Amino acid sequence: MAAISMRNIVKRYDDGYQAVRDVSLDIADGEFVILVGPSGCGKSTLLRMIVGLEDITSGEMVIGEQRVNDKAPRDRNLSMVFQNYALYPHLTVFENIAFPLRLKKVRDDEVKAKVTEVAAVLELTENLDRKPANLSGGQRQRVAMGRAIVRDADAFLFDEPLSNLDAKLRGQMRTEIARLQRRLGTTTVYVTHDQTEAMTLGDRIAVLRKGELQQVGTAHQLYEEP
Ligand code: ADP
Ligand code: ADP
Repeated sequence: MAAISMRNIVKRYDDGYQAVRDVSLDIADGEFVILVGPSGCGKSTLLRMIVGLEDITSGEMVIGEQRVNDKAPRDRNLSMVFQNYALYPHLTVFENIAFPLRLKKVRDDEVKAKVTEVAAVLELTENLDRKPANLSGGQRQRVAMGRAIVRDADAFLFDEPLSNLDAKLRGQMRTEIARLQRRLGTTTVYVTHDQTEAMTLGDRIAVLRKGELQQVGTAHQLYEEP
């Protein structure tokens, strides 16, 4: 786990558009922060700068003890779950979840132990031998989550992970994500434009508007006080 500290973060795209304007935000070790705001306000851009998929124009990004501005994504030890959660169609659920461990050449017995544990938490034990095509949308999303949490990342980053699911599944998955984060206690940044997710999931909510951080606080502070 690691704290994430953003100092005066700016993102100016090549065409000159300033998508993120002077954002400073401190996320504590183990904290769950929700990033909300209307479409185009810069949520994905900010998340991609944390992971390293987007260059930082100016400012400082510190994860744990390290300044990561110039670090490649693979050197940041973070796990990201995307909206479209692409799974490997030719691999079983077991091998999809195991994938990050295979890349790191983890020993077979250790892979088996880890994947079994993660599958139990995500209630995927019965589905380990199936291919993604034979799973429901919610199961596929859980596999994507399993792949993200199977290795000990310093933080989890979620980019609208539930937006492609129907309302019922979204509700179920919301409960599961909350349970999972409490259990693992891993620092999490979660992007959504869904008010219910924002109000129920995180420790704190950060509201972005036109690339600027407008408000940061608990759901109670943001939505229930005048
Ligand atoms: P959000 O995730 O909040 O919907 P984004 O971070 O995707 O917002 O985008 C923020 C703004 O930056 C938008 O106006 C978007 O059009 C713009 N933008 C995103 N990517 C690029 C890019 N590669 N080049 C130029 N502008 C971009
Ligand atoms: P979202 O709203 O889900 O964040 P978008 O559909 O806005 O995603 O963007 C999808 C992709 O298009 C992203 O990779 C983003 O960087 C790119 N993009 C968005 N806006 C622009 C833009 N104005 N110019 C160039 N690329 C853009």
